[in-house]
Amino acid sequence: MAETLHETILIVDDMPENVTLLVRILANQGYTVQTAENGAQAIKAAQRTSPDLILMDISMPGMDGFETCLCLKQNERTCDTPVIFISALDDIQDKVNAFQSGGVDYIPKPFDNEEVLARVATHLEIHRLRVQLQSANRELTSRLDELTRSQEQLHERQMKLDAFVNALPSLSFIYDEEGRYLEIMANETSLLATKAESLKGHLIAEVVPAPEAALMMDAILKAIETNETQVIEYKIPVLAGGERWFEGRVALMEKGADGHSKVVFIAAEISERIRLHQEIQRLANQDPLTACFNRRYFMTLAEYELQRSVRYQRPLSLIMLDIDEFKHFNDQYGHQIGDQVLCTLVNLCQKKLRSIDILGRYGGEEFIILLPETIAAGGLQAAERLREKIEKMEIASIEAKMPVTVSMGVASLDANFNTSQTLDMLIQRADQALYNAKSAGRNCVRSG
Ligand code: GH3
Ligand code: MG
Ligand code: MG
Repeated sequence: MAETLHETILIVDDMPENVTLLVRILANQGYTVQTAENGAQAIKAAQRTSPDLILMDISMPGMDGFETCLCLKQNERTCDTPVIFISALDDIQDKVNAFQSGGVDYIPKPFDNEEVLARVATHLEIHRLRVQLQSANRELTSRLDELTRSQEQLHERQMKLDAFVNALPSLSFIYDEEGRYLEIMANETSLLATKAESLKGHLIAEVVPAPEAALMMDAILKAIETNETQVIEYKIPVLAGGERWFEGRVALMEKGADGHSKVVFIAAEISERIRLHQEIQRLANQDPLTACFNRRYFMTLAEYELQRSVRYQRPLSLIMLDIDEFKHFNDQYGHQIGDQVLCTLVNLCQKKLRSIDILGRYGGEEFIILLPETIAAGGLQAAERLREKIEKMEIASIEAKMPVTVSMGVASLDANFNTSQTLDMLIQRADQALYNAKSAGRNCVRSG
């Protein structure tokens, strides 16, 4: 007996000798063979065992072959099983009926064994291919479904991303690792450095001033290197005109193995925030009445200047200035006019001093001036010049009969000074000199 082919064939025939003959031929070939004597039995057997092929006689008592085949074709479980008719009927109409009732082939009796085997093998092969095709089809359909689903998800994500970008009150860019503009998403195009159309493909350094371009490139490279979001602040000229401040946030988007990377760069305008910050800073450092530096900020600046002076052995002078008999002046003209004097005096001093000199209100009607790069003689000279100008100072709103005068004390760090000098010590010396000026009759300058 030949090896088993794992394929089952159901033979349906009411004539036992036909059945026996077919069983022998097919079993010899290695097929598993089942038999049925009539249509009803055939349907039951086919339902139960799902044969790979059915060989069916046409003339049978009860249900004939055609009816049986039609029944099989209507059932989901058996509709795909190929049915080959074997019959002595040789009418052309029988053959047509055979195909119309769902048969795949027709073998006339008496049959030739080889022909039966050849046709059986052919239809089994066709059936096998059909099953394979159906399974491949199912697989393809499921892949197509998956693809459609992921395309829908992609579309949904794209929509979300677009919504985010549209809602951002900022400029969004995608750069490569060289700082080349790959994509520009700008809601406020007037905040761009150049027209969006002419940005694509260009480098940051071609569009933005060099120091800011360097700062931005540094942040981009750091984001790529560390995969940490970088935050920078910078000011650049924009299409709207003038310069604007931006906060730039740079995050890594894609890091290719070949060294090619992409970053997302979101730039939000912060000009107003910076302006407010600078305003707060200014107010915090300024005397509210006269707008010169307040004592705290003066001390900070003076401390820095003194350290610089000590480190580089550079001269420096400090003037303490106090209005003479100001109490008396206030009593005579009123506090408001007194305030006006303080403001006018500060204006005058600022006009007469160099831009590097630092003027602060030390308290009440007392002011302090630091003159960097100024030797003792120069400090005295500057103080004397100021004293003369103040003496002649006019106050806008009154015809002051009483001139405003000041007394000043000057202390300096001159050539080869002691490097252990502190700001307090210098102030103390200037204060002592001021006291001496007061004692000497006021409206004069003394050094200490
Ligand atoms: P001296 O020549 O010895 O300095 O006499 P003086 O009156 O100027 O000194 P004193 O310290 O006795 O008085 C300082 C006066 O300065 C008292 C105060 O009325 C006045 N003063 C201080 N701060 C202000 C201010 O902000 N506005 C006005 N209008 N006056 C001020
Ligand atoms: Mg005083
Ligand atoms: Mg005074």
